[in-house]
Amino acid sequence: MVKGCSFIEKAGNPEEVFVPEEFTEEQLMIKDMVIDFCLKEIQEPMLKRGRELYATNEEDRAEVARLLEKSAELGLCGVAISEKHGGIDLDFNTGLIFAEAGAQGFSFATTIGCQTSIGSLPIVYYGTEEQKAKYLPGVASAALKASYCLTEPNAGSDANSGKTRAVLNEAGTHYILNGQKMWITNGGFADLFIVFAKIDDDKKLSAFIVEKAFGGITLGAEEKKMGIKGSSTVQVFFNDCPVPVENMLAGREEGFKIALNILNSGRIKLAAGTTGGCKFAIDKAVTYAKERKQFDTSIAEFGAIKNKIAQMIVHTFAADSAIYQVGRNIDLKTAEFKQAGEADGEAKLNALREFAVECAILKVKGSENADFVLDETLQVHGGMGYSMETGIEMGYRDARITRIYEGTNEINRMLSVAELTKRHLKSKEINLTQAGKKIPGILFKNMLPFTSTDEAAIIENIKASFLLISGAAGKKLGKKLVDEQEIVMNLADILAEGFLAEAAYLRVQKLKNKSMVEADQIKIMEKAVQVYLYDALDKVRKAGNEIIDAYTEGFNKKTMRYLFGKLTQRYNINAKELRRDIADYAYAKGGYPF
Ligand SMILES: Cc1cc2nc3c(=O)[nH]c(=O)nc-3n(C[C@H](O)[C@H](O)[C@H](O)COP(=O)(O)OP(=O)(O)OC[C@H]3O[C@@H](n4cnc5c(N)ncnc54)[C@H](O)[C@@H]3O)c2cc1C
Repeated sequence: MVKGCSFIEKAGNPEEVFVPEEFTEEQLMIKDMVIDFCLKEIQEPMLKRGRELYATNEEDRAEVARLLEKSAELGLCGVAISEKHGGIDLDFNTGLIFAEAGAQGFSFATTIGCQTSIGSLPIVYYGTEEQKAKYLPGVASAALKASYCLTEPNAGSDANSGKTRAVLNEAGTHYILNGQKMWITNGGFADLFIVFAKIDDDKKLSAFIVEKAFGGITLGAEEKKMGIKGSSTVQVFFNDCPVPVENMLAGREEGFKIALNILNSGRIKLAAGTTGGCKFAIDKAVTYAKERKQFDTSIAEFGAIKNKIAQMIVHTFAADSAIYQVGRNIDLKTAEFKQAGEADGEAKLNALREFAVECAILKVKGSENADFVLDETLQVHGGMGYSMETGIEMGYRDARITRIYEGTNEINRMLSVAELTKRHLKSKEINLTQAGKKIPGILFKNMLPFTSTDEAAIIENIKASFLLISGAAGKKLGKKLVDEQEIVMNLADILAEGFLAEAAYLRVQKLKNKSMVEADQIKIMEKAVQVYLYDALDKVRKAGNEIIDAYTEGFNKKTMRYLFGKLTQRYNINAKELRRDIADYAYAKGGYPF
């Protein structure tokens, strides 16, 4: 039995977590196939062309649509679709390696991500048998190019406030759709639109499968964007577009639920994609650092560069560890739900919902890692990083969108804390009070300043810090806590640090206990965990102290400061030396080393 958010209640068991080193030959073949596709069909032509694709240019947009068809020939557009409907129905974790590998296709990752995720999963998960049979084979073969229309000019983060309306015609055969959608990925060539609209004066959205062929659809010009320039993004206008009643997905007013649930999947896939992008960038940074000489020295030898390379690796490693642990748990939970009698789509959805907190945390971490890693990769390249010649500036621009779509990082931070609180207060699935009762014992047990063998204690303390501060803030502010967004943001960061630090630690423990990789690699991974914890403690200290300063006074403040100070005490390691060792190891391996 696996349970979402359980990391906050208890310590994880290394024997129970999945590590990427356990991927099978078949899973790794899929990864290689995607990378091979990206190299031959995207990277090599881009080098020849001397520039990236621009969806604003008609020929390039047609090329992107053709790439989608070519990828479909290899089965890549049907990864989440059952064999019965023309797909290859990968398990969720394999779908994540697919997303990771897809990062090597640059902006095409967004195009194919939309086709295989938000643009088609609503049908996979919520469609009737007739809807699936009618549309999914076309999505798998890319004969139908798919898009997802939720956002409107005045309804972004507040997606349920959209004004697009669906009104049943007199004959009761069609909903007539009117409205305007914005920022629609794949919109420029889409044949299929998953459209969210309100029926009459409903409070909540409903969802519809809309074919371009229905008529009444016009497109705005391609958006001129900062990055992912090859990805088509347009406004879509619905003017009396007739949608057959049988094309509604699930029930009336179920659309908002569909939109949110589909985003759980999109969020963790985005994290996998950004992690793939980080690994790719680190490879480039290492190669360039080793080649480039200044002051008669390879710049790789400079401490400042080693520090950057190591930091990029450490944070990528933690995200990589957590993503596949959650992916595996989603697969296990799906199997559990199916055994309990749920249908395939329902089981997959419920499993994703179970891990909504983890998916939100990973979206934030993955996208912020991507910005950090691409920025530092550019810096390692100096002026050449700023030049279009190396492609690094493209990666830097492309990475930036990931903090905005699939729910902005502010929304995802709030969501992670709100969802955890809901599980504690409403469904009682998680008992934070009970977990908080362990704090005195933890304080007593983990008294000494941390040393290099205290990783488990530090992780326990970070989680206890979250429980201590969220518990006290919750008591003081009650329901008003959600309005104190600065506090919520800080709580989300503490929660995320506990989760990622443990994921990285458990991965290394499992590899060590089972001697799954060579001893020298384990040693470097252990160092990566230590450096991660060193950074995590800093972030937790800052976030926690800000909260304490904001809402405690007098004796209460002193007590909280004292207890929190004990939980986040100094970690006596030489982070500088550890980072140097990690960078040297990456140099020896020629890139991201794990
Ligand atoms: C390239 C690109 C592709 C996209 N693809 C699609 C697509 O295929 N389909 C689709 O439907 N949408 C798509 N989007 C839309 C995307 O999901 C939205 O841009 C995103 O949800 C944010 O909405 P917004 O841009 O309206 O920003 P806003 O919601 O206006 O947010 C602006 C700022 O305010 C913050 N904010 C908003 N509400 C709150 C709050 N309650 N508390 C605190 N801070 C808040 C945000 O975090 C952000 O920093 C795409 C966007 C882009 C740029």
